[in-house]
Amino acid sequence: MAATILDGKAFAARVRGQVAEQVAQLKEVHAITPGLAVVLVGEDPASQVYVRSKGKMTVEVGMKSVEHKLDAATPEADLLALIQDLNSDDSIHGILVQLPLPDHMNEDMVINAIAPAKDVDGFHISNVGLLGTGQKAMVPCTPLGCLMMLRDHHGSLSGLDAVVIGRSNIVGKPMAQLLLGDSCTVTIAHSRTKDLPDVVRRADIVVAAVGRPRMVLGDWIKPGATVIDVGINRIEKPEGGTRLVGDADFDSCAAVAGAITPVPGGVGPMTIACLLANTLTACCRANGLPEPTGLTA
Ligand code: NAD
Repeated sequence: MAATILDGKAFAARVRGQVAEQVAQLKEVHAITPGLAVVLVGEDPASQVYVRSKGKMTVEVGMKSVEHKLDAATPEADLLALIQDLNSDDSIHGILVQLPLPDHMNEDMVINAIAPAKDVDGFHISNVGLLGTGQKAMVPCTPLGCLMMLRDHHGSLSGLDAVVIGRSNIVGKPMAQLLLGDSCTVTIAHSRTKDLPDVVRRADIVVAAVGRPRMVLGDWIKPGATVIDVGINRIEKPEGGTRLVGDADFDSCAAVAGAITPVPGGVGPMTIACLLANTLTACCRANGLPEPTGLTA
């Protein structure tokens, strides 16, 4: 039987709709408008595209969007001063510093300068610790999007065997924490894992976050398993030009899996939707209001 294709584009549109509804209520009932500040340093073309689309979607859901574009040669102290200003600005509930930063900047120091309650990327060391100890955290957007899709498809994840391939701080590790929080039995596989195909074959849920085009093959997948493909890899097409593929070999995996996310149109669109959800969550928490429903871990 062919796998169910988990349509991240449609799901993300639904999440943005939920955010927009709850933003409208906040405005009407409490006269509060959530605000997101995005800081971009330098001219990285991919980052410029992301920042533009974040700004556009922030406005579309009714939030205030602020963009700060700094020159690549900006001294680190100036960026830290801007972050301090945003930390103390009551109209800003979420702060995102677009990565990567230029080489002369220390990413850890910059991220840890953001007030944890406004750290909508969930990368601040306090949020990492809160997530790791099962406390209320700001949760990294991409793994949060994967979790939402998994909950939507499976209902309860309790007791399922999950294998996360990749141990990055941005995707792999927080993904594993979230799955553990939903009572999965979690294995984190990585570049040194022995017999990776055998490890993956045990999984009811496979999350691939590696950055290697079509590495996960259909004969690694347990029949009926769910494959969440986080990878975004640009490859050459035989006829010329390029296209995007995931970390899973879509056709062979879809022939065995119960459900699978495509690339593009799977996990990708969920990341910005979850950024907006996190900004709304941060705004509610800052104002002592109940958490938005269905939009948190
Ligand atoms: P990363 O390079 O920081 O981490 C990759 C991980 O893969 C490492 O932990 C490494 O141990 C593991 N790995 C490398 N080779 C391996 C192998 N042969 N076998 C098993 N594991 C191996 O990457 P990242 O930031 O976690 O991103 C992973 C992928 O997800 C990339 O393609 C990236 O573009 C994509 N991504 C997508 C989104 C999104 O919005 N959809 C967000 C973030 C990252």
